[in-house]
Amino acid sequence: MRPQPESPQALVIGAGPAGLMAAEELAKAGIRTLVCEAKPTIARKFLMAGKSGLNVTKDDDADIFATRYDTPHLRPILQNFGPRDVRIWCRALGQEVFTGSSGRVFPVAMKASPLLRAWAQRLTSQGVEIRTRWRWTGFHGNAFTFDTPTGPQSLTPKVTILALGGASWQRLGSDGAWVPWLREKGVQITDWQPANMGFRVDWSAHMAPFFGQPVKGIALIAGPHRELGEFIISSKGVEGSGIYSLYKDLRSGSRLAVDLLPDLGQDEITRRLSRMKPGESTTNRLRKLGLDPTQIALVMEFARSDPFAHLKHLPIQLQGPRPLDEAISVAGGIAWDALTPDLELKVLPNTFVAGEMLDWEAPTGGYLLTACWATGRWAGQAAARRLR
Ligand SMILES: Cc1cc2nc3c(=O)[nH]c(=O)nc-3n(C[C@H](O)[C@H](O)[C@H](O)COP(=O)(O)OP(=O)(O)OC[C@H]3O[C@@H](n4cnc5c(N)ncnc54)[C@H](O)[C@@H]3O)c2cc1C
Repeated sequence: MRPQPESPQALVIGAGPAGLMAAEELAKAGIRTLVCEAKPTIARKFLMAGKSGLNVTKDDDADIFATRYDTPHLRPILQNFGPRDVRIWCRALGQEVFTGSSGRVFPVAMKASPLLRAWAQRLTSQGVEIRTRWRWTGFHGNAFTFDTPTGPQSLTPKVTILALGGASWQRLGSDGAWVPWLREKGVQITDWQPANMGFRVDWSAHMAPFFGQPVKGIALIAGPHRELGEFIISSKGVEGSGIYSLYKDLRSGSRLAVDLLPDLGQDEITRRLSRMKPGESTTNRLRKLGLDPTQIALVMEFARSDPFAHLKHLPIQLQGPRPLDEAISVAGGIAWDALTPDLELKVLPNTFVAGEMLDWEAPTGGYLLTACWATGRWAGQAAARRLR
């Protein structure tokens, strides 16, 4: 293994939103910073997030915003960089943002690529060096070791930020390979669980024509929660925003039911049915009540024997979560007990952590990216203070 002739003052491993934000903070403090990324290009998951509309944050008051996370540890970190700061930061990169009807905030361009391009240019002008195809492989004594296009390398920076992401969508880079290396050093790491994920359904052959179709204008019910929303029927099960909003209840075993007519009470449904012609087919009656073909297919899938009895509470039989790798985000990761308030690893001084590697979870809606940026900024600022 060849040691680098000159190790950087600050090393950031992982060029996702968290790592790039940490690098930006270090560079702003005048610190020579190197970012090492395993993949041939940076921020692949961030670019994927932009494919269906990049939801950068939620237009909430900072205190309310923080309550959507499962840990109070993020509160000071989100006060340091919260929803308002995200909008200012996007605008400073030339990306105007707007707030949608649900309070979700998006760049006008909707995609991640213009923002990432402007951000990468700004980082370069700040003196940040980014090396791609540099895969961190663990430790050799105090050195961080890498597989690189020119063979194995090792670096011994003064401070390091680990921002390697969680353990979903491995093909985009976050594979969780680092877990055993840090556990060996005594870092406490909570096991991964999928978050914001779809669930499996064993559909009958009748449902095949409806794969890819949305089920809209409904309420989803799980445990004590009821959410107006929509979901998608896929060949493997159910997914989409309505399902993600209830994933915690469903993950812990609550059953899913759907109210297909949330604007009508049961009495009104009964009254309308009683006024229909006696010989009318079931499908026609369901259609006249306002159900579309996909909703009617769902009724026939799960309540064929008594279709009109379950319109307000149609049970959808789930077979468990889809695999971790398909989840939008993860729960689990580096435990808060393993960290100082500066996000520094207690057993590895001068090594800080940011982003989805940390043990937190939150719903979709811009909460994920905001916390990745906020923890990146927090860890970067703490590392910069250390060097001062
Ligand atoms: C389909 C999809 C849509 C999403 N949409 C949204 C959305 O609209 N809004 C939102 O808030 N969030 C969204 N998210 C979540 C968001 O993209 C993630 O929370 C965020 O990218 C995590 O940032 P991170 O920097 O912690 O990790 P990552 O983005 O995963 O970055 C980690 C980086 O570390 C690199 N790396 C890993 N291991 C090594 C190694 N050994 N050596 C060197 N480099 C390594 C990886 O290649 C990667 O580039 C979405 C996610 C998905 C999958």
